[in-house]
Amino acid sequence: MNKKSMIIIGAGLGGLSTGCYAQMNGYDSKIFEHHMKPGGVAAVWKRGEYLIDGGIHFLMCHKPGTPIYDVYSEIGAVGSYEIEDMTKYMRFVDETGSKVIEFSMDLEKLERDLIELSPADADEIRKFIKEVDWMKDSPLLIDLGMSTAPPELRGRFDSLKDMWNMRGFMKYFTGKWAKSASGYSEYLKDPFLKNAFKYLFSPDVAVWFVIMILATIAGGHLGLFKGGCHDFIEAIVRKYESLGGEIQYRAKVEKILVEDDVAVGVLLTDGTEHKADIVVSAADGRSTIFDLLDGQYVDDKIKKRFDTWKPFDPIVIVTLGVDREFEKGAPFAMFMMKEPLEYAGRSITCLPLRIMSYSDSFAPEGKTVIQVMLETDWEYWFDLRQNHEEYKAVKKQIAEQIIQRLEVQYPGITSQIEMTDVATPYTSWRYTLNDKGSPMGWLLTRSTLTEMIPRTLPGLENFFMAGHWVLPGGGVPGSIYTGRNVIQILCKRKGKQFMSKG
Ligand SMILES: Cc1cc2nc3c(=O)[nH]c(=O)nc-3n(C[C@H](O)[C@H](O)[C@H](O)COP(=O)(O)OP(=O)(O)OC[C@H]3O[C@@H](n4cnc5c(N)ncnc54)[C@H](O)[C@@H]3O)c2cc1C
Repeated sequence: MNKKSMIIIGAGLGGLSTGCYAQMNGYDSKIFEHHMKPGGVAAVWKRGEYLIDGGIHFLMCHKPGTPIYDVYSEIGAVGSYEIEDMTKYMRFVDETGSKVIEFSMDLEKLERDLIELSPADADEIRKFIKEVDWMKDSPLLIDLGMSTAPPELRGRFDSLKDMWNMRGFMKYFTGKWAKSASGYSEYLKDPFLKNAFKYLFSPDVAVWFVIMILATIAGGHLGLFKGGCHDFIEAIVRKYESLGGEIQYRAKVEKILVEDDVAVGVLLTDGTEHKADIVVSAADGRSTIFDLLDGQYVDDKIKKRFDTWKPFDPIVIVTLGVDREFEKGAPFAMFMMKEPLEYAGRSITCLPLRIMSYSDSFAPEGKTVIQVMLETDWEYWFDLRQNHEEYKAVKKQIAEQIIQRLEVQYPGITSQIEMTDVATPYTSWRYTLNDKGSPMGWLLTRSTLTEMIPRTLPGLENFFMAGHWVLPGGGVPGSIYTGRNVIQILCKRKGKQFMSKG
């Protein structure tokens, strides 16, 4: 019997996962990837003797015994990378060094430390830690809602089943825990703690998401890639290719070919046409729907989503290679500055730092890679990039400003810096084509939390979508599951059993 052919757009996690499951379920698939490397936003690059990991910070459910781990295993990622348990998350320090708090997996200690810092906030701190402690043992934490069927696979009782599974979580959909981290910080009195809670992840995300991150650490479900996230990506690529899949790099899709409302292939920017029975876009959502398909297959819900939903803000990443050793403590630090840092039209009082001292893969012995990631605005960088010299000058200036601030915490660091690399939202867009350089697709908010995005488009046959633009909150497990969903939908429609081995 002839195998059905499938074209997949994009070799990020969504596309690679789609490809693996496609091959396992009897499709003959090929991925077209615009960049010369796989991984999309999960990107790692070399600068001299330093390795820069500009992608995944931590992997959720990195240990056996969770459904998400089993899915990593299905697509060949497991065992291919060195990973260590993340027992500490973030260390907050005020610029004078007089106040310090470390968020780690030890919740009793955390509660004690927080109350010691601000006795006036004791009640609120206890309530918060109680939520983290509760969530740490919740079965949902090791599934993250990933087993929730997409709209195309939902049966009559799925909504009831979801409600039952989510019953403990209903409290997070309204009231205090549904507020943004920034909104929640107003419940605290101490200015230092206010900032700490606001910046534990991002001021815009719902505070229950912050609770979830801390619960995941407390439950031992977060891991740090010791060799960088490319080991994870390359293992999935190997699995895909061993299953017979093929990836064509430097192959940018310009149009999705449609005949009589049926997707039949793609047109690349080099002018070549490629035909297939099924087309899956695991690329940027907006450009897939409005450029590659000319906005021909949208309904009011889709229009509303792209008009009103907020994506994760893009980031500017400043990476420094430093001839210096850093303490092997929490991988993230946050410095609360006395004077705000003005950059790219924004002003911040907290400087986030990622310290890659947990592995010797990133820098030679005795040296360390450190990284500052700042949320920023796409329009600023897009406009600036029109003048290349000015763009380069602003990148240099931001790096200098950051180094000045780090000098306060790490005296002498300026003269120890051997490598400086600045990646802007424009860089991210150039390599991954994500709308406005967004790192993770749609922001998870009170309203997007309960929204389900179909993996299909209205009126278009043989076409599917995967990746972080079809699952609010994005992330590694989410992107992988969306690819799995596409093949599950196809199997269900054909009355075939879904295979997850190969
Ligand atoms: C700095 C950073 C840190 C992160 N940290 C974490 C973390 O700690 N934990 C976590 O779970 N998640 C994290 N994420 C998010 C997670 O990495 C992403 O959500 C996930 O990798 C997205 O995968 P994707 O396949 O959906 O999209 P992408 O990675 O964007 O892949 C899409 C691919 O499609 C290609 N493409 C686009 N358009 C075309 C076209 N027209 N033709 C051909 N190819 C095209 C792109 O080049 C790209 O390779 C982080 C992201 C970033 C940027």
